[in-house]
Amino acid sequence: MKNLSLETKCIQGGYVPGNGEPRQIPIIQSTTFKYDTSEDMGKLFDLEASGYFYTRLQNPTSDYVAAKICELEGGTAAMLTSSGQAASFYSIFNIASCGDHIVSLSTIYGGTYNLFAVTMKRMGIEFTFVSPYATDEELEAAFKPNTKAVFGETIANPALAVLDIERFANAAHAHGVPLIVDNTFATPYLCRPFEFGADIVIHSTTKYLDGHGATTGGCIVDSGKFDWTRYPDKFAGLCTPDDSYHGVTYTERFGLEGAFITKATAQLMRDFGSTQSPQNAYILNLGIETLHVRMPRHCENALKVAKFLSENEKIAWVKYSGLESDKDYALAQKYLPKGSCGVVSFGVKGGRKAAEAFMKKLKIAAIATHVADAHTCCLHPASATHRQMNDEELIAAGVSPDLIRLSVGIENADDIINDIKEALENI
Ligand SMILES: *Cc1c(COP(=O)(O)O)cnc(C)c1O
Repeated sequence: MKNLSLETKCIQGGYVPGNGEPRQIPIIQSTTFKYDTSEDMGKLFDLEASGYFYTRLQNPTSDYVAAKICELEGGTAAMLTSSGQAASFYSIFNIASCGDHIVSLSTIYGGTYNLFAVTMKRMGIEFTFVSPYATDEELEAAFKPNTKAVFGETIANPALAVLDIERFANAAHAHGVPLIVDNTFATPYLCRPFEFGADIVIHSTTKYLDGHGATTGGCIVDSGKFDWTRYPDKFAGLCTPDDSYHGVTYTERFGLEGAFITKATAQLMRDFGSTQSPQNAYILNLGIETLHVRMPRHCENALKVAKFLSENEKIAWVKYSGLESDKDYALAQKYLPKGSCGVVSFGVKGGRKAAEAFMKKLKIAAIATHVADAHTCCLHPASATHRQMNDEELIAAGVSPDLIRLSVGIENADDIINDIKEALENI
């Protein structure tokens, strides 16, 4: 069946059972797969035949779920990873190595910032961070001859800046590199970055895709649209023979639609092993089945909360791109017409101290590192996820020291608002 709607793909995408086969995706809880001859197995190792041999590289349950996310995003190939961090790392390390450079938005998740600015820097990959509101000149100045990609988040965690995907895709393409978009907060329900020119999408499936705070996971999806072969020297790993795989050239053997994901599976999964377990993939799939029912409620509740906060005199500021007064409202209208997700950031008058006092008084909203699931929760990033940053870096990341990140769940909106109201009255 062609042209199915997103709602139907959430339920039925990625897996089509045959006659008499299980309706729900089977959990293939096996590390290994049996073959009749060593020749059969050898062909798999050489990537000459497709099939499963070891779950560190691929597993059918995970592949069903990756295929579903691939359909939801409108991509050509996808893979699951053990976490969003692994997906971010692989998406870049698949095309960049020691001596290369990446342009990244400064408004990114704290864990991603640390991965880039500290850990990948130790691997010899350099990052230049640019503001989502950078001028054309500033953006242009960030590129270098050894730049291999541009990286940003559709809705930045926790700054909530909305990425002008078209603008950053055009800039990336003008320099012959892909735009990688972390679409975690938007999910394919609210935005499909490929439709605006992004080339690779990644997810922390830990958030809305799972949606219940039950499993950690990640996903990488390829649009199949970036033509690596136009820049064979820049993307030599994709366009020249891989000695560690008997001389396979990924773009030749798997085409533009499969080269990126096959290389990431064959090399990075093989060597780093950040595999999502079949059990977790199964649970993730249950979450995705209700994505299209949950996301509208998250957006509706968050908008109500953001409006309430923006009218309360104890609140210093509110950031939610669904508010008409928001700096990113116009971008949200373009990229997020169905809503701006469930996450609202704000500051309580009185700064950092008031933030901590307020959060202590909340009863429904739990203090949790987590974000983007059915349960309302909140976090003070400056003392948690972003505590490794100094004040200057915090400001660049769009995280003021008083910022409270509230992840509005799908409980009753009045209950959530009353909880906030009472906590504010008690500080
Ligand atoms: C949580 C998060 C990540 C990291 O994902 P994990 O699954 O926790 O490893 C990456 N990007 C964004 C936007 C996130 O919110």
